[in-house]
Amino acid sequence: MPTAHDRHADSSASTGSAPTSPAGANGAGSGAAHDPEEAAARLAVVEAANTLFTNGVMSHTGHANLSARVGADAMVLTATGHVRHLTEDDLVRVELDGRVVSGTIDPTNAEIVAMHTEVYRARPGVGGVIHTHSPNLLAFALANRPLPCRYEALLRFGQADEVPVVPWAPRGSEASVGGIVEALAAHPATNAVLLGNHGVLVFAPTPGAAAQLVTVLEEAAAAELGAETLGGATDFPAGALEQVRASMARVRS
Ligand SMILES: [Zn+2]
Repeated sequence: MPTAHDRHADSSASTGSAPTSPAGANGAGSGAAHDPEEAAARLAVVEAANTLFTNGVMSHTGHANLSARVGADAMVLTATGHVRHLTEDDLVRVELDGRVVSGTIDPTNAEIVAMHTEVYRARPGVGGVIHTHSPNLLAFALANRPLPCRYEALLRFGQADEVPVVPWAPRGSEASVGGIVEALAAHPATNAVLLGNHGVLVFAPTPGAAAQLVTVLEEAAAAELGAETLGGATDFPAGALEQVRASMARVRS
């Protein structure tokens, strides 16, 4: 929105250039984040948003909402649904019970708070959540087709299961959020859900890891669609996941 951009045009002109250090970020913001953990979370969200644009996996409209966990009971969340030129001041702090405790959230974004809080509540290991409409993932969401795991990179990014589809319901509604909670329970190993007729919701230990997972999921969706012209993608051989885990363990040791 022009007002948000205008507001930050002079104070945060460096956003989108070289990544800043957490120490530098602490000095550059509006003072909204006195807590170093919150300041780091704000920076991580901005960098994750930039990664989505850089990697070409953002919704073409620039629509997304991103969050990062702060401590056990809170998160910082983008205040509006458009994240082009995002700065660390464009985030609100929200308790996981849904209360906005610092900053002002755009009314249109208030609807999506529960979509984020419920993921943090259901998955204690999650530190970052991203929702967007990446074009090829959107094709799967519109078709209400789960995205199979048939791409090597998905194994390496920990998405060894198919990405399930949550049936459409008005965004932020009890039915929509309830559907997400049900999908998380029914698919304990998935790190993403497709939102039927809408988009995708991806989560990981950090916002940066979530942005990388969005990227490989979008690649997988594009490749699935591309492979259709060649007769269709094929499944991994049995035991592939175990082999990848063993090879990754060898590399790390
Ligand atoms: Zn959306």
